[in-house]
Amino acid sequence: MRFTLLDNKLIPEPLLSTHKRYENKLSSLFPLFHFKHLPIQPLNQTFPFNKKMQSFIAGKQLTLAEIPFSLKTIHHHYEQGYLIYRHGVYVKDKKFICGRCRNQHQQKFASFYCIRCRGRCTYCRECVMMGRVSSCTPLISWIGPTPTRDFAKSPLCWSGTLSEGQRTASECVVRSIQLNEELLVWAVCGAGKTEVLFSGIESALIAGKRVCIATPRTDVVIELTPRLQAAFPTVTIASLYSGSSDFHQNAPITISTTHQLLRFYQAFDAVILDEVDAFPYSVDETLQRAVHQARKKTSSLIYLSATPNQKWQRECRLKKRKFITIPARYHRHSLPIPYFAWCGNWQKQLTKNKLPQNILNWIKTRLKLNKPTLLFCPTINVMEAVRLLLHKFQIKVEAVHAEDPERKEKVQLMRNGDVSMLLTTTILERGVTFPNLDVAILGAEDPIFTESALIQIAGRVGRSADFPEGDIVFFHFGKTEAMVNARKKIIEMNRGGIQRGLIDK
Ligand SMILES: [Zn+2]
Ligand SMILES: [Zn+2]
Repeated sequence: MRFTLLDNKLIPEPLLSTHKRYENKLSSLFPLFHFKHLPIQPLNQTFPFNKKMQSFIAGKQLTLAEIPFSLKTIHHHYEQGYLIYRHGVYVKDKKFICGRCRNQHQQKFASFYCIRCRGRCTYCRECVMMGRVSSCTPLISWIGPTPTRDFAKSPLCWSGTLSEGQRTASECVVRSIQLNEELLVWAVCGAGKTEVLFSGIESALIAGKRVCIATPRTDVVIELTPRLQAAFPTVTIASLYSGSSDFHQNAPITISTTHQLLRFYQAFDAVILDEVDAFPYSVDETLQRAVHQARKKTSSLIYLSATPNQKWQRECRLKKRKFITIPARYHRHSLPIPYFAWCGNWQKQLTKNKLPQNILNWIKTRLKLNKPTLLFCPTINVMEAVRLLLHKFQIKVEAVHAEDPERKEKVQLMRNGDVSMLLTTTILERGVTFPNLDVAILGAEDPIFTESALIQIAGRVGRSADFPEGDIVFFHFGKTEAMVNARKKIIEMNRGGIQRGLIDK
């Protein structure tokens, strides 16, 4: 869109004709990026602003297309100092910067002839999946009074009890939220980290704060929403992922994928970031910036992880990062420790339509015991080869991977007990819980099985209190550092759990 500047006010081209005295300004229309400084109007406190608009826009950064109000109404609120126009894409030190996702990688910008600004326009490719933002796109944010919130009295309705390890962590979370600090909760797989958040979220709600739980994965958003809603039955919860319809809600609790946070701007007093080490957040700077942009300047940030990266672990050791560990599961049993089983050149065997004998024996034993079993494979191709081979032996298995449209149904088949063995890529390394599970990895030496992936995979075993044990075996053709370190970390966590009296045996 093109704008003109008059009396230190921006006026969008479509509204120019309604202003008679501005007609002579037609020659001075420019795309937004032309204006280095975008003026902010002083707040007219007596202006009867639109409450619906306030609720919709506050805490967000939206394009005109995303706002269900007319340009006239929007601009009127700008003139009265309730909204600002920010640059979509702008130039600083001869470099393009995206105002929405903060992308600065020049190769991730592209130019095109734009009919809106009638010239060459540059857009950001990094966040284009959220709708195109270009150098003539205004990003609109609310700067008027923030929506008033009912201060909840005692919103938490949860009758469970926390384990000792959970309770200590929960107290730290409460304190960090109250003091607007950062904290890493380093909890083993199956520690029961969701319950650890409840008191902290409650204390935030009582203080009238707005809370966001963000996670890289849609599955987690969908799984967490009903659990949080059950714990806070009277509180509105917005559940945001690609395809959800809760976007309009200015809710006290927002559960969101990290992607969806790109539309937020200084919105939350407390952000809880689940699985910081999980793909794609761990590798995607844009998502990391989205989280920082969605926080208020004064706010708390709680990170949850079972497998923080090396850098973070070092920062914890050097006391440069505030953290609390939960080294034991809520059911007070130690974590099952993986064992290594050499299986020779399994790839060569597969080309001959064979599986190494020890793997085949292991599989047959599980089937005899009728135990639910996961076999992780390094690639889809390997997985397919194994599946065909097992079919030859009349062994019924299903196989799942990230792009599998029937993924959810197949996981459900396993839950129902209709199939006892699933072959999988690393897609199931997180988030799934099957009681009484045994797990093996074929080709654990493959680089896709990083230390954290191996810890997560091992973390699938023994999660339920009824079946706290299970088999976890790394079949390999040569040990890797990742395998050795993963095993070491699990043993260390168990030791920590015993020292703190959080494990019974
Ligand atoms: Zn962008
Ligand atoms: Zn344009």
